[in-house]
This record gives sequence, structure tokens and C-alpha cells, in this order.
Amino acid sequence: MKSINPYNGEILQEFNEHSEQETQQIIEDSHQAFLQWRGITIKDRSKLMSQVAEVLRNNKEKYARIISLEMGKVIKESRAEVEKCAWVCDYYAENAEGFLKDEPIKLPEGKKAKVIYNPLGVILAVMPWNFPFWQVFRFAAPNLLAGNTGLLKHASNVPKCAMAIEDIFIKAGFPKGVFQTLMIGSGQVKNIIENPLVKAVTLTGSEKAGQSIAAEAGKVIKKTVLELGGSDPFIVLKDANLEKAAKTAAKARMINFGQSCIAAKRFIIEEEVYDEFIEKFKSTIESYKQGEQLDESADYACMARPDLAEELYHQVDDSLKLGAEVLLHGMVPEKGKSFFKPMILTNLSPEMPAYREEFFGPVALVFKVKNVEEAIQIANDSPFGLAASVWTNDKDKADQLSREIETGAVFINKMVASNPYLPFGGIKTSGYGRELGEIGIKEFVNIKTVYLG
Ligand code: NDP
Repeated sequence: MKSINPYNGEILQEFNEHSEQETQQIIEDSHQAFLQWRGITIKDRSKLMSQVAEVLRNNKEKYARIISLEMGKVIKESRAEVEKCAWVCDYYAENAEGFLKDEPIKLPEGKKAKVIYNPLGVILAVMPWNFPFWQVFRFAAPNLLAGNTGLLKHASNVPKCAMAIEDIFIKAGFPKGVFQTLMIGSGQVKNIIENPLVKAVTLTGSEKAGQSIAAEAGKVIKKTVLELGGSDPFIVLKDANLEKAAKTAAKARMINFGQSCIAAKRFIIEEEVYDEFIEKFKSTIESYKQGEQLDESADYACMARPDLAEELYHQVDDSLKLGAEVLLHGMVPEKGKSFFKPMILTNLSPEMPAYREEFFGPVALVFKVKNVEEAIQIANDSPFGLAASVWTNDKDKADQLSREIETGAVFINKMVASNPYLPFGGIKTSGYGRELGEIGIKEFVNIKTVYLG
């Protein structure tokens, strides 16, 4: 497995993949670790998780460089990612005990019952490259604190991040086997799911991977959480603060160079303010500076892999052939290179990829609408349902939109962002289940009813 710098194609490091036998041993070690780990109090587990936050903060620069060089995001974004990982560790270290305490239930016949939360065992996490630290810590912090053990199958293009994360748990003093990385390709995931010691699977990634993992887990009746793609609407009504909306819209599309499930992708603008919004939006995107990943002043560097840049351009090209118009020109990516330039497309119709598919990169899709009803109709006319951002100063309209938009989250006058305090996840083909918050720690536990007769 190779770690390749997507900016210049340089091989950073090579890793041996785990053999089938090694993989089985790692699963067995994870199970043995679970048998001990579940007996440790949440207070003690929380102390270790606080140390993970410490390790992350104390080595922020080192981890940020690994992320940037391996995945292609600029260094300031990588630093923010490492800090956010420390935040989620602290959040669950402070709150896990309260979230998982026994819950008494009073029964009408005068008897008592309670709900208790038991860990399940070994949980497999299949994770993507786009936020190669955050996606993993978002899984690990709640699930390890709940008493489960974790196996990470990271994306094949971020093996350095995968190894660094395993090392962080060791440095923080976690017992051997509680968190381990599997150096394997996606072809081996099926065997792991089938192993009786593995109790559940979580995936963040594409719909295709989601279909495959859910089908395999379904055959052996194991729970899954799927966090798949999104084509989030960013709706601007005529009474919105346009200056702020346009600047935020650019940021929401350009974050992580557009490679984020919750990046704003479809910009739905009321016609009265359309021209002014587009002008501000376009000029803000044009002001973003390209540079090498470690360049402190760069806002973006390159995409994470050459095939991702090529695939994105295919989607653009197919949409142009069907009549889409260009408001901001980008570039045709060079074969084998990960470079891309931001684009804005409009005049979009339902038969185009730009209307139906996720554009996982810096291409903004713009729609002009007559009123709120049309904005809701276009927002909901998508196979995805992850999140939405709504811009208006009218409280009633904001309320209407937040109820009628078919997504797992709606942010009013704010760009969508994940936050340890807030449940995160989608509906429709964006997946199911929730991460983060109190709900997130209860996805992979046995919610057990105890009747006290
Ligand atoms: P994938 O879904 O292919 O990869 C995500 C993870 O799933 C990786 O660890 C990958 O392993 C694994 N995987 C892929 N296929 C299977 C399978 N059949 N069974 C088990 N595991 C599997 O994403 P890509 O890297 O190919 O990106 C393609 C698209 O996916 C993007 O353009 C975007 O639309 C979406 N995506 C969404 C993300 C999100 O945050 N929701 C994150 C990343 C991608 P391996 O790398 O070894 O193939």
C-alpha cells in the first residue's frame, strides 16, 4: 500500500498489507482486548480519551503535515482537523458517563425497570480519505468510551494517517488491541464482516461502498451505520444578508477543496437577489489562492487523487453536453494529475449529472428560483438528504424550510458543519444512523431492558 503525495506524485512511504492470517489475528486480539476493556469503568476510559486529546494537541504540527502531504489539503485545514479531533475526544471524555448511565423507568403497576447500555464488542470502521483523522476520531471517541473495541480499515490512499492514528492510541496509554489499524484493501472487508467476533460496521464513503457493506452485514444480521454522500442545498432568500451569505457560500463549497459530504453543492437563490449574489459569490471564489499544501497562504492545493479530478470533470463535461452553462471557468484536468480549478455551473436540468449526482470537488451548481416553494421543491428533488443551509431573516420562513427540507440537518444563517454536540447523519441515499452527540454514542450499544420484579 503506497502513500503518495497527490500534489507531485512522490511516493512518501510504502506499507505491507496484512495477510489473511494476520487480519484474523488482529480481529482475535481486538476481541480479547474487548473482554478486558468492557470491565474498565467509563471514568477510567475517559481519562485515557483525554490523553488522546493531549497527544493530538501536543503533536498537532506533525499530524497536520502527514494529513496535508498524503491527502492534499492545505496545512491550515489540517491543523483545524487535528484540533477538532481533540475536541471530540474531550467532549466524549466529559459526557460519556452521563450519556450511558442507567435510566430508571417507573411502571404503572408499581414495579420498576431500567435501561442499561452494554457495549457490543469489536466494531469495524471503514473510513474515507477526505478528513482522514476527523472521520476516524468521530467514530473512535464515542465507541471506545462505550466499551467497544475498534478496527480501522482506512482508505487505501491514506495509510500513513491510518498508522499515525493507531500510534496515537498507543501513545495515550490505551491497552493493546483496543484500537487497531488493518492494512487491507476493500476486497477483504466482506471476510471481516462475516467473522463472528465482529459485531457491527460503520462506513463513511460512497453509495457504492454503502450498498456493498450493508448487503454483506445484512446477510449476517449485523448493524450498520452509513454516512454516504450528499448534495447539500444552500438556499438564499431575498431578505438574507447577501454579503455574509455569498462569502459563506464560497467557503461552504471550497472547504477541503470541495471534497466533503456536507460541503454546500447546490446553490438555490431567489431571483430578486440572484445577480447580486452570483457576483459576490464568484468574486469570493476567484479570490481563493492555489498553492502547495504546506504554503501557509494557500487556500487550496489539489484533489486527493488524479482519478477523482478526472471523474469530477467527466460529470462537468456530461452536464455541459446536455446544456449546462459555465459561470466560472475551471480547467480540464491533465491525465494522472490531481489539479483542478473551481467552477460554477448554471442552467441545470434533471437529466444532467449536475442535477442528480454528488459533485465531490470545487464545482458549484447554481439555481435561480421564483419563491420559497420552488426553492424547497428543488432542494428536495435529489436522491441525497444529508444537510442544508438556509439564509433568511424571516423566522417563519426559516421554520417552514427547516421542517420541509428532507435532510438530516438544517442550519439557518450558518454553513453546515459537524460538531461533537450535534447528531450528524442523513436520510435517503445519504445513509442512515447518527454519529456524534448523545445519540451517536448509542448506535453501537446493546440497549438492554432490565425488569426488577
Ligand atoms: P469509497 O467509498 O470507494 O471509499 C471509502 C472507503 O470505503 C475506503 O476505505 C474504501 O476502501 C472502502 N470501500 C470502497 N468500496 C468498498 C466495498 N465495496 N466494500 C468495502 N469497503 C469499500 O470512496 P472513493 O475514495 O472511491 O471516493 C469516491 C466517491 O465517494 C467520492 O467522489 C464521493 O462521492 C464519495 N465519498 C464520500 C465521502 C463522505 O464523506 N461521505 C468520503 C469519501 C468519498 P479502499 O480505499 O481500499 O477502496
